[in-house]
Amino acid sequence: MATLNSAYRRLTAGYLFPEIARRTREFAAANPDASILRLGIGDTTEALVPAVVSAMQDAVTQLGDVSTYSGYGDSEGQTALREAIAALYQSRGADVKVEDVFVSDGAKSDSANLQQIFDVSNVVAVQDPAYPVYVDSNVMSGRSGTKNNQDQYEGLVYMPCTAENDFFPALPEEKVDLIYLCSPNNPTGAVASREQLQGFVDYALEHKAIILFDSAYAEFIQDPELPRSIFELPGARKCAIEINSFSKTAGFTGVRLGWCLVPTELECEDSEPGELHKMWTRRQNTFFNGASNVVQAGGIAALSDEGQAQCKELIAHYMENARIIREALESIGLECFGGENAPYVWMKTPAGIDSWSFFDKLLGECNVVGTPGSGFGPSGEGYFRLSAFGHRENILEATERIKTQLSL
Ligand SMILES: *Cc1c(COP(=O)(O)O)cnc(C)c1O
Repeated sequence: MATLNSAYRRLTAGYLFPEIARRTREFAAANPDASILRLGIGDTTEALVPAVVSAMQDAVTQLGDVSTYSGYGDSEGQTALREAIAALYQSRGADVKVEDVFVSDGAKSDSANLQQIFDVSNVVAVQDPAYPVYVDSNVMSGRSGTKNNQDQYEGLVYMPCTAENDFFPALPEEKVDLIYLCSPNNPTGAVASREQLQGFVDYALEHKAIILFDSAYAEFIQDPELPRSIFELPGARKCAIEINSFSKTAGFTGVRLGWCLVPTELECEDSEPGELHKMWTRRQNTFFNGASNVVQAGGIAALSDEGQAQCKELIAHYMENARIIREALESIGLECFGGENAPYVWMKTPAGIDSWSFFDKLLGECNVVGTPGSGFGPSGEGYFRLSAFGHRENILEATERIKTQLSL
């Protein structure tokens, strides 16, 4: 008799984005003439850069010729790609070795899968609001109880990030073991300073906790003083794992390619030296046969000098969108955060209305779709996210409607 994984039953309601899609579909059905603009889901919109396209075309051509055909590769990723990733970090003074790099099919899977090398009894801390995967995947793995009436899963530690603390959490007061940090942050667009991150590294070293650091938006940082990797900080190699991806930087959301850095020195309460790195190697060798070889060729090209220059232009496009959005919202008196070192603008809802009411209002009055802050955690209530991923004409049209049609 098979039985199901009852931890899944603790998950409440739907995932945020299906609910947005449902409300948008209903609105479109009721208002067939409305032209709806989507600044909701954080999905890239601009074409792959030429260096990536030609490298992937060449890789396909090689597979089509028996003399250059290749099958399975190393599950950790192609050496040339691991070297290029390590070199990117080293060029910025981050302490990363080639052996630390594990290539994957994306940061979402890594951020969930990495829990497997840690005991189910570990207490998980998350920024609140946060990318929903961290919470939901830990609930599914049995690291929480059910949701309480404060919209929090029992057993998880929520670290509030609001305007009052500049969207970076205080150090946990209770015992926590696995700490998810995302910088630049999705959804708030806030970036942790060196001092703020060092505080968490020191905490983790002292308590033998592990930081899971998601830097998927690192390339969007404009301010040279802000850290782009946790491995720029002393001590991080003993207590941190970093998760990153080509999705937002190189437009690989549909192509699929990411990586994580599990340092050879990583340690926790009961590990032998090097044991966590060996366990993650074993986990990947067992569960994963490696990222697509065609796609890895694209990743190597994205990290070449030519690819980097082209990706910088892509990022500049999205960051100009972010500037346009933020300027438009501020021009009508809305309070905004983020958007300066991240492709997300995080705004306070006007007149204290709740996040989902503002979603309906923006959709109804402007036919613009955004993301309710409460969908990212209880501390996101009263906030709203607008994404800078979009074609310029759509961003201009959406912001014009917001400026002229939103009733405040
Ligand atoms: C988009 C995003 C990712 C990227 O996930 P992929 O699976 O690599 O596409 C990772 N973390 C955060 C916070 C994101 O917003």
